Amino acid sequence: MPLEFRCEDVGAVCGEAIKADTPEELVAKIAEHAEHEHGVPELSQTLVDYAKTVVRET
Ligand SMILES: [Zn+2]
Repeated sequence: MPLEFRCEDVGAVCGEAIKADTPEELVAKIAEHAEHEHGVPELSQTLVDYAKTVVRET
């Protein structure tokens, strides 16, 4: 069940598409990307919950 998260789906001007096999892995990758590319040091629970609502199964 590959999952995909796109930054643009949460309003970010970013073409990044992050893929993972599990929600936990996906959140970890989103957090890493957010820190390095968007200067967000830590994802809040609100952001994590919101991100999960826009995740697609591919
Ligand atoms: Zn991004």
